[in-house]
Amino acid sequence: MNIGLNVYKGQVWIIFMVKKLAKIMGETYTLSCKDIGSEDCGFSVTTHSIDEVKKAIFAHARYAHPDKVQDMTEEQKESMLEMIDKKFSSKKI
Ligand SMILES: [Zn+2]
Repeated sequence: MNIGLNVYKGQVWIIFMVKKLAKIMGETYTLSCKDIGSEDCGFSVTTHSIDEVKKAIFAHARYAHPDKVQDMTEEQKESMLEMIDKKFSSKKI
């Protein structure tokens, strides 16, 4: 009886872990250029990690809005990265 219950608990644990892993693997983050202040830009990026979102949005900004990026100070870039972190922190478990 006790052994049966332990096996059952073990199975539930494995299913729980697999589901959790699938959720992490399937988690996506979407950021649009509008989110970082370009009202008239329709660009958006979806990736599986926040770091990739940041890299992609900055790569896009350097390419599509070089004037804006050039005018940005290091502090402004930092605060933009913080803003992106905040945007996604509410989504994290
Ligand atoms: Zn843009």
